[in-house]
Amino acid sequence: MQKPTFQKPTTSSWKIKMSSQVTYLSTRGGSSNFSFEDAVLKGLASDGGLFIPSEIPQFPENWVEEWKNKSFSEVAFEIMSLYVPREEIPADALKDIINRSYSTFRHPETTPIRNLKNGLDVLELFHGPTFAFKDVALQFLGNLFEFFLTRKNGDKPLEQRDHLTVVGATSGDTGSAAIYGLRGKKDVSVFILFPKGRVSPIQEAQMTSVLDKNVHNIIVDGVFDDCQDIVKQVFGDVEFNKKHHIGAVNSINWARILSQITYYVYAYLLTVKAGKADHVRFVVPTGNFGDILAGYYAKRMGVPADKLVIATNENDILNRFFKSGRYEKVDSSIAPANSSASAKETYSPAMDILVSSNFERYLWYLALTCEAPNHTHAEASDILAKWMSEFKQNGSVAVRPEVLETARRDFISERVSNDETIASIKNIYETEQYVVDPHTAVGIETGLRCLKSSPGITYICLSTAHPAKFDNAVNLALSSFSGYDFNSQVLPTEFHGLMDAECRSIAFGKPNIERLEQLIETALDEEKK
Ligand SMILES: *Cc1c(COP(=O)(O)O)cnc(C)c1O
Repeated sequence: MQKPTFQKPTTSSWKIKMSSQVTYLSTRGGSSNFSFEDAVLKGLASDGGLFIPSEIPQFPENWVEEWKNKSFSEVAFEIMSLYVPREEIPADALKDIINRSYSTFRHPETTPIRNLKNGLDVLELFHGPTFAFKDVALQFLGNLFEFFLTRKNGDKPLEQRDHLTVVGATSGDTGSAAIYGLRGKKDVSVFILFPKGRVSPIQEAQMTSVLDKNVHNIIVDGVFDDCQDIVKQVFGDVEFNKKHHIGAVNSINWARILSQITYYVYAYLLTVKAGKADHVRFVVPTGNFGDILAGYYAKRMGVPADKLVIATNENDILNRFFKSGRYEKVDSSIAPANSSASAKETYSPAMDILVSSNFERYLWYLALTCEAPNHTHAEASDILAKWMSEFKQNGSVAVRPEVLETARRDFISERVSNDETIASIKNIYETEQYVVDPHTAVGIETGLRCLKSSPGITYICLSTAHPAKFDNAVNLALSSFSGYDFNSQVLPTEFHGLMDAECRSIAFGKPNIERLEQLIETALDEEKK
């Protein structure tokens, strides 16, 4: 079989000259020249756009030779140093934040690679405190919040200190990773809302068994969207927000994307050391496009992956975009694009989205390359803002064929159905004696399809969660195998006893904004005592 030739990933117009310092701007224009600290603490720009760096820095020459024996944390330091000006965070402080963030991971390689017999490589991202890839970002974000706040506050007395109140809704993974990232952090409180009876028992226990004073679990009678709705209302309450500095930890925060770049680079370096890096592709189970967007930055910085592979479940807005060039909420071949719909419930719930919030950042780069006559940021932001407003109005926006063609140079995509997900978990167990979670299974099924159509390439499939977190799907797939036993084969020792641990949560009842704000104020007062 002939090996495909490797093409250099960047076209010249995409390459932005390295200047001395990165600043941040909003994808929708309006605001520019934000510091890294602004971008991280604000989360979302005031014009509704997302923060992006003013340029994409390039790796230094000889980076592979120089970095290939570095640890995960050392690689993280090299990458983040390119995006975080030293004036904002001195080198020693940044090193310390990074080291503390990744010392909580259980594996000596932090994110190790496992080689499967079927030819695929699996990048295991689940060795952090909550057994999900979101730990990579949220361990870092928690320490970063604490660093900025304690620096601002110095040794001011309690009543004069700036305090950040993080409020978020979760259907599982984000909540537990956020709680573990923020527990016990100075000058930060965290309130996580989740729907009663709709989060897996293990995920619920992971959240409610954290007893730190600054952690508040709020159980709502309703569904995830009810939780999300009242959280949005809290963010929209200008006065309340001003008084309590409401912060977000969702996947649009730039620091989350930044920290995730590390494992793409580190995985590439591991592959070089294993002597098989001449042609790599990353396969990424994708929902909000935060994970794979970090891969895009890694590629633009110089990781020689010719393609990034999007793996979606039945919530396939991205797969449809890469097939048709139309970004639309609802599949218009099935129902009107602007009809109301909610995400399908699948076996991979962390990817159950209608719209991929981070895709806006990639669309901005597409606008810059293809639609901005002078390649200026302002032109790109104007076009992006138009696309987003059309999307908001009609539930759909289409790009020109040339734009889609450019996008296809970076990405390919596959959709994996619910049945195929379960079959994939079964198949991997049978052939590899390896138990994977349903999100990872979506990725591996995608990887196998790619291996078949384009062999001779090293496919690195990202494993985004430990299988014990999704016991329903895993047991559904595997319980018919004789000798299979969840408790002894899948459940990590760290989870033993979790269901009986002491726990703390607030039964909130029906969603209601006034009562939520009241609750937050009372809890914040209590914390100060
Ligand atoms: C969040 C999550 C994903 C999706 O990541 P995005 O950044 O939203 O694309 C995939 N798998 C698991 C287990 C997750 O928790």
